Amino acid sequence: MPFDTGTFKALLAWADKIFEKLPKCDRCGDLLPEHYYTVQELYGDKFCSEYCAERAYADAFREEEVPA
Ligand SMILES: [Zn+2]
Repeated sequence: MPFDTGTFKALLAWADKIFEKLPKCDRCGDLLPEHYYTVQELYGDKFCSEYCAERAYADAFREEEVPA
């Protein structure tokens, strides 16, 4: 099978499309591992690590954590 530049570009475009559809961390944008992290209060968000989940939680609820 010939593998010219056009084929290579098409392959890259295809790979980009696949990559775009892969689930990503809602905090840092990295690809999610098979066992990703979630935060109950942040429904639907998925995180690559406990760190990202904790940071996202802290950002989302920062104002509530600080006493007025
Ligand atoms: Zn992350």
